[in-house]
Amino acid sequence: MDEISWQAESFAAALVGKLREILDGEAGLAALAAAVKRCSEAAEEVCAGRPMACAPGCPSCCVLNVAVLLPEAVLVARRLSATLPPDELSRLRGTLAAHRSSTRWMDDEERILKRADCPFLDGYGSCSIHEVRPLACRAAASLDADCCRSAFSPVVTDEPRLVPADLLRQAAYDEAFSALALVLKGLGLDSRSIELGTGVLAFVDMPEYLELFLEGGRLPDSLWR
Ligand code: SF4
Repeated sequence: MDEISWQAESFAAALVGKLREILDGEAGLAALAAAVKRCSEAAEEVCAGRPMACAPGCPSCCVLNVAVLLPEAVLVARRLSATLPPDELSRLRGTLAAHRSSTRWMDDEERILKRADCPFLDGYGSCSIHEVRPLACRAAASLDADCCRSAFSPVVTDEPRLVPADLLRQAAYDEAFSALALVLKGLGLDSRSIELGTGVLAFVDMPEYLELFLEGGRLPDSLWR
């Protein structure tokens, strides 16, 4: 833990400086994309070469609540709006709205029991937004896929749902997430985190929220209720 703590301190300080350089001045969509990319690159540099059992087609943990910063939600929304045909986008909007409505008061245990899968899982158990997936998703690195299947199976149990995981990767991504939130706040931008599907749906439905965000405005508080 000492090694992780020490690395976290210097890692965060360096990343905050880099993110300020990227976002200071005329922040726009490209700068937001560069900042989020820098966060994941920095975290990946820390944990390069470390083992993980996660692989395409293993959707076990893609049932938990995922919190994203608003720039992450914008990037996913923009990608979906630019790449999906209108009928598919319309279907996805319906799925996102239904998922938000059914899970908004659920904790993770209830999500697991009801197998409230992430709306971005495709029919093969893979992430349909893999290239722009959130920092929180990139942070998850199991060391045992069988443990994940068991821990996230929808059965009632008093046993803790434990999974051996790469804590250094988790710590690096946590620091990257916090560094980005800190820099957004320092620039007077909305630094709140939001549930993944809720944030993405908001930016798909209301593209003008990007302008509002960039101007230092706050998205409606109703999105957090
Ligand atoms: S965004 Fe992708 S990786 Fe993250 S929970 Fe959803 S399906 Fe899984």
